[in-house]
Amino acid sequence: MATTREIHLSARPSGLPGPEHFTTVDVDLPPLGDDEVLVRNTVLSVDPYMRGRMNDVKSYTPPFALDAPLEGGAVGVVEESTSDRLQVGDTVLHMAGWREHSVLPARQVRKLDVSQVPASAYLGVLGMPGLTAYVGLTRVAQLKEGDTVFVSGAAGAVGSVAGQIARRLGAARVIGSAGSPEKVSWLVDELGFDAAFDYHDGPVAKQLAPHGPVDVYFDNVGGEHLEGAIFHMADFGRIALCGAIAGYNAEAPEPGPRNLMMVVAKRLTLRGFIVSDHQEAASDFYRDAGAWLAAGELVHRETFVEGLDSMIDGFRGLYSGDNVGKMLVRL
Ligand code: NDP
Repeated sequence: MATTREIHLSARPSGLPGPEHFTTVDVDLPPLGDDEVLVRNTVLSVDPYMRGRMNDVKSYTPPFALDAPLEGGAVGVVEESTSDRLQVGDTVLHMAGWREHSVLPARQVRKLDVSQVPASAYLGVLGMPGLTAYVGLTRVAQLKEGDTVFVSGAAGAVGSVAGQIARRLGAARVIGSAGSPEKVSWLVDELGFDAAFDYHDGPVAKQLAPHGPVDVYFDNVGGEHLEGAIFHMADFGRIALCGAIAGYNAEAPEPGPRNLMMVVAKRLTLRGFIVSDHQEAASDFYRDAGAWLAAGELVHRETFVEGLDSMIDGFRGLYSGDNVGKMLVRL
């Protein structure tokens, strides 16, 4: 019987997860049942939301089980199939990541068209992060032509796409924040942001001041970024609360923005969202993103770590800004 390797969550972390919270396990591959596939995974996704699922708390998705393989986006190639719909050699997307091979019911696997883009794009610009950017701007923040848009985490998977989509949909100005001078240059020189700053260079409120008032803030970071943005929102501005990565490894809840009264005075809308509630937007997103990609109007980048043994480092790297664009694990 063939064996494979998978990563289990072996202890619930407090703070930043480390190797001590995970175990790599050798397992036998089970024989296929009816309408199933064996997939050899080629690229695995690590995403910030996975940190929340490592906690044993009720949320919009259940926690990861202890001593069981973690889950997450993955792409790979079908090696065996008992399904009429999927053939050996097909490239597919599924959610049984964190492992070298996955055995899955065919209905949990999506066949990919890799004639124009590599399979990994379906984990980033053409996948969940890209859809998140699109939904946050179009469905949540109700972006309008002429808006000034501020995006935090702007050099990451969601943020880099959000800034560019804002421009494509008619934003007058797009401002980004990110964690290094190289990222700031990338945003302005290659992605077409009008301005960007490194949030390590001074308070967000101060660095954003020359670029306001802001009509739409796409918040990937929370904390000081959210407070800083509130100071510079235009009246009736809209804030799409996408994530709050600055607090994901905090051992106690972070204090909220101290300037919430400004939300009242400026009549702001702050709206949280979860991308999976917006599957109705997917066909619009694939149409628009596909056209922009084909026209060279949507730039995307991927940062790879190599091999299953690097997966924990890749995951941890999300919290130290090791990635430009989408962070991925190549097997
Ligand atoms: P990214 O590719 O943006 O990776 C995370 C980035 O966050 C890092 O590269 C780092 O960049 C930045 N970062 C890490 N720690 C901090 C900090 N303390 N302060 C400021 N920036 C920090 O990840 P994603 O694009 O996948 O996700 C971006 C956000 O979107 C996350 O908050 C995530 O949870 C959220 N999300 C929400 C979804 C939803 O449905 N609501 C769906 C998908 C993602 P830097 O060098 O700039 O610090």
